[in-house]
Formats: sequence, C-alpha cells, structure tokens
Amino acid sequence: MAKTIGIVTSGGDAPGMNAAIRAVTRIGHAKGFQVIGFERGWDGLLTNTFKKLTPRSVGGIIQLGGTILHTLRCPVFEEEGGVEKAAETLSINNVDNLVVIGGDGSFRGALDLSRESDALMIGIPATIDNDVYGTDETIGFDTAVNTAVGSIDKIRDTAISHERIFIVEVMGRKRGFLALEVGICVGAEVILIPENPMNLADIVKLMEENAKKGKRAGIIVAAEGFGNTSKIAQEMQRQTESEIRLSILGYAQRGGSPTARSRLLASLFAEKAVDLICQEQGNMTVGLQNGAIAGVELEKSAKNRKPLDLRLLKVAEMLAT
Ligand code: ADP
Repeated sequence: MAKTIGIVTSGGDAPGMNAAIRAVTRIGHAKGFQVIGFERGWDGLLTNTFKKLTPRSVGGIIQLGGTILHTLRCPVFEEEGGVEKAAETLSINNVDNLVVIGGDGSFRGALDLSRESDALMIGIPATIDNDVYGTDETIGFDTAVNTAVGSIDKIRDTAISHERIFIVEVMGRKRGFLALEVGICVGAEVILIPENPMNLADIVKLMEENAKKGKRAGIIVAAEGFGNTSKIAQEMQRQTESEIRLSILGYAQRGGSPTARSRLLASLFAEKAVDLICQEQGNMTVGLQNGAIAGVELEKSAKNRKPLDLRLLKVAEMLAT
C-alpha cells in the first residue's frame, strides 16, 4: 500500500500556502505517496475531516492567496486530549508523515503531536510575520512586504501633498520583521518595532528634528506589536504642531496573489520536505539558511526565538536623514 502524506495548513493564512500544498502533493505523488489534506487547521485532525489531494485537484492554485484547505486558530487542540485525538486520526488514516504548513505556533503544535504519534512531522514555515526560527524567510513574507509597500507608497503621496505625518501600522504580531523591512523599503522617517522600545518623547524628538531639516511630511511605520498606535497618534497630535494621521493596513496585508518569490520558496521548501520524508527524517522543519534550503530540528524551530538583525534599524536611520 502506498504510504500517506497528510498536509495541514494552520494558524494565520499566508500567500504561498497554496503553492506549497500543490508542490507537496505533486512531488509526493511522483515519489509514490498518496496525499490527503486536513481541513481547517488542527480542527481537521480533531474531527477527521480531510480530502484526497491529487496532482489534478491542486491545479490552478499556485497563484491564489490563502489556503484551499482553510485554516484556523484552534485552542481546543491545545486542551487536554486534543493532541491524543489528532494522533488517533493520523493512526486510523494510516498517515505516515504530516506536513504542517504554518508559523511557530503551528510548529509547537506539531512538536506536541510528535510526542503522541508515530507519524513523522515536517514543518514548512509559512507566515507573513517571518518570525520562525531556523529560516531566514517564511512563505508569504515577501508578498506581505510588497503589499504593504504598495499601500504606503500611496499614503506617501497624500502625506507629501498635505504635509502631514502618517503613522502606518503594519502586521507582524509580536515581532518587527515585517515593519522593519517595509520601513526601509518605503523610506520611513521612523520605524517602531517591539524589539527596539522607544517612548513617545523620543519619537516626538525625532519628528521635530526632521521638521528642522525641512521635512514637512513623514511616514512612521509601526509594527502592531509596538504598542497602541491610536494613542501614539493622539499624543503626537497634542504634543507637536504637525497634522498626524493613523492608517492601519490590517488584513489586506495577509491576502492576495503570492509574489514570484513566495511561490518559489513554497515550491523549494515543499521539495525539501518531501525529500526529508523519503529519507524518513521526521520531526524536522525546512528553511532558508544563507541562500540554501536546509532542514532544522522541529524542536529547535518550535522552541527558539528568531533573532532580528537590529543593524537594519541603523541602516534605516541613516537613510532617513
Ligand atoms: P502560527 O502557526 O501562524 O504561529 P498560531 O500561533 O495561532 O499561528 O498557532 C496555530 C495553532 O497551533 C493554534 O491555534 C494552536 O492550535 C496550535 N498551537 C499554538 N501554540 C501551541 C502550543 N504551545 N502547543 C500546542 N499547540 C499549539
């Protein structure tokens, strides 16, 4: 009997998840596996809900954002009995390998499941937050950066025309990877990220220095994890003579057609994932490390915090003069 690969997409959706589903299915089939896709994240493993995936059924999805398998955040999975139930589902369906496409939370779930199940877990990092240890880049990050940059370029037009300061809040959950890269790419005057706490007085001072240099408009890119941007905008409005506006980019950053870069990463990560499966190397995640696709122990990627290169913030500061 052909061995079975299960696929699950979990946590926040990211553009390129579909490209990864497609690539695991097609390469898996070519290597002699049958492939099934659990629906709605870990919930699919709790309710035994899945569909058979074939090279034909994953046609026409490489360019689609989101995930055809649907996803959700599934607190029940973390509750008592959740992981055991998921392990039972894998066992009754003879799933030998489970490919988990998601972020660090999903990988922590996979790690818990690996302790209860004989199926080998393989993680493929996909999140717009880029906050997964063991990979320089996650599937979806490049798309989200480009989406945010496109929106902020438009906001910049209004900022310049009206000589206003815009605080633009971008996603990233508790980390600043997205804000930092977006900030550099839009030429932000200030970038606010959780990894570099700043108080309001410092931010106001920076904007006042900019005003003295003749900059009458400005973009402040703030990570959602930095703090309450609405409050920051109100306080800045009170303390400065500038007109301050807040724009929260929100969910538009999560969707959309994946960029070529996100599709390529998804395809290459999937190829590596199936390769590890063929070598029976389980409980691993795949990632990009210094330009090469590599395997990382699941335990490491699930438990470690990815470092953020604060030198990039210095570069951004030099560019904002
Ligand atoms: P992401 O995978 O994008 O980081 P989440 O952090 O929301 O998204 O995690 C996705 C799902 O993984 C959660 O809804 C939960 O079911 C599961 N999960 C998260 N953290 C853990 C954990 N520590 N142990 C077990 N399962 C977890």
